[in-house]
Amino acid sequence: MLFPRFTTFLRTTATFSSLSVTAGITIFRRLPLSLPPPPPASSRVVLRSMPTIPFLSSFFSSSATQQQDDMSFPDQRPDSEWQAVLSPKQFRILREKGTEAPFTGEYDKHFADAGVYKCAGCQAPLYKASHKFKSGCGWPAYFDSLPGAVKRNVDNTLGMQRTEIVCANCGGHLGHVFKGEGYATPTDERHCVNSVSLKFSAEDEAAAAKDAGGAASKA
Ligand SMILES: [Zn+2]
Repeated sequence: MLFPRFTTFLRTTATFSSLSVTAGITIFRRLPLSLPPPPPASSRVVLRSMPTIPFLSSFFSSSATQQQDDMSFPDQRPDSEWQAVLSPKQFRILREKGTEAPFTGEYDKHFADAGVYKCAGCQAPLYKASHKFKSGCGWPAYFDSLPGAVKRNVDNTLGMQRTEIVCANCGGHLGHVFKGEGYATPTDERHCVNSVSLKFSAEDEAAAAKDAGGAASKA
């Protein structure tokens, strides 16, 4: 089959030999005759190859936001900056939604009378020590968070629907929240959080008291 090899050749190189001209004309005649004026250089490649993207993205975002919190975050550091301040393990879990092995985390069996668990990325206070309970699941478990400190996001990976929880200040992945499991807690919810995503601070009762909705950005 000669023709498919020609089209592959044409897609992957800008060099045309005299032999390819005939096949090239056939392909080019299928393109729209009038193209829109070129957009700014930053977006030119995407818009030229996929002109229906603006419509599609608005369609997807409008349906997705029906089931989840607004996923815009005050701390907008790019991955390059996160890599500079996080360990490789922290980056994998906080920024790439990884999961630490159960029963291995620093805070799985950590309990304190006072203090707060902060986001290990941006230091925003997330959970009070009094929110923590013994779930036996292998990860730190909290029945509630500080008001506004955690956002929820529908997660359809691994063939099931779960509710992902992220830091409301930087979007860092914390873990998942489960409801209706029957634990004897005030909310019947279990915030199942990676220890790697957290940093405990015993001195931070002031931060807990002000119930900050994630205001401790370093940016
Ligand atoms: Zn954070």
